[in-house]
Amino acid sequence: MALLSRLPSSSTPPIQSTKTKSFGLKPVFTINCASNSQNISPFTEKHSIERYDRDSWVYKNQLQQSSSSCPLPSDEEFVRDYDIALQLPELKKLLQVLREKRENENGSEKRGPGNVFLVGTGPGDPQLLTLKALRVIESADLLLYDRLVSNDVLSLVGPNAKLLYVGKTAGYHSRTQEEIHELLLCFAEAGASVVRLKGGDPLVFGRGGEEMDFLQQQGIEVKVIPGITAASGIAAELGIPLTHRGVANSVRFLTGHSRKGGTDPLFVAENAADPDSTLVVYMGLSTLPSLASKLMYHGLPDDTPAAAVERGTTPQQRIVFAELKDLADEIASNQLASPTLIIIGKVVALSPLWPGAMKETSTLVESR
Ligand code: SAH
Repeated sequence: MALLSRLPSSSTPPIQSTKTKSFGLKPVFTINCASNSQNISPFTEKHSIERYDRDSWVYKNQLQQSSSSCPLPSDEEFVRDYDIALQLPELKKLLQVLREKRENENGSEKRGPGNVFLVGTGPGDPQLLTLKALRVIESADLLLYDRLVSNDVLSLVGPNAKLLYVGKTAGYHSRTQEEIHELLLCFAEAGASVVRLKGGDPLVFGRGGEEMDFLQQQGIEVKVIPGITAASGIAAELGIPLTHRGVANSVRFLTGHSRKGGTDPLFVAENAADPDSTLVVYMGLSTLPSLASKLMYHGLPDDTPAAAVERGTTPQQRIVFAELKDLADEIASNQLASPTLIIIGKVVALSPLWPGAMKETSTLVESR
């Protein structure tokens, strides 16, 4: 259901290393870099208090009308439609205010649409935000943000900016991609400076290309501000060089997720099973068992070092190191949840955090 068809047309603290190592027979260990706040998500969970607080402007109308709390219905689709219906009056009001502001500023002079900025916010640590991103965030009228934009990053947004959550978690979309396109278009046409915030880099598994394409076709200028993708942020955090002379001469970013009805993404396993290349798997938790088997079947050694990192670069970061053959089991027994990034390749053993026994017996490290 298209949302806009209903609208009028016109600083991370340093990670505390409370390291708990659980060595198995094989070199496998877990580091809980978390503090006592481990269960608190650094990201935007769809029904979190932080998210409703942050977006409260858009529910203002209803909050004023009903003092009693309204129990959330259990059906996800109903919740989504209900949520959107609650937001519509304030969204329309904002649109109206922006249009009037523009008319008053320019009199009869006709001005073009506003800009849309596609901004990457990095993997979570607010200090990984670029200066350019920060400046754009501070001057935006409206910011649409995803689940993987961390709460710490969102706390940097200026007091007058309006924030709207449009994120998705597996199986639940608070807004369809088409609705996001329409929101961006509608506000840009009203002359607003609209910022689309995305975790990591907007052009790495971020659907940024689709948004750019749609808006450009409508004559809206889109400026992209890159972000540090999860692979770079997390590799740096763990001290893993994604490429290393004599160890890995290329790096490949894969998605473990398959589009509904799309080709199985694991078909890549055959040509990705290259011991001299580093593989970084995004959205790979559910398909990892199958990907790992296929990689080994196609010749990647079963003792290839690997790491899985949940909520990387945030205070709640958790890391599991294991050899490829044990990785899926270790991830399951440590109950890693999304967002988790998986890095597979000899370079993983170069991390200073890699279990010592393996590093000592390893012949992988080449000196320059
Ligand atoms: N555009 C993002 C990727 C979005 S896809 C980027 O460039 O990083 C979402 C996937 O990214 C997650 O399922 C997870 O695999 C990975 N990811 C993003 N942030 C992460 C983080 N802080 N910790 C672990 N994985 C992360």
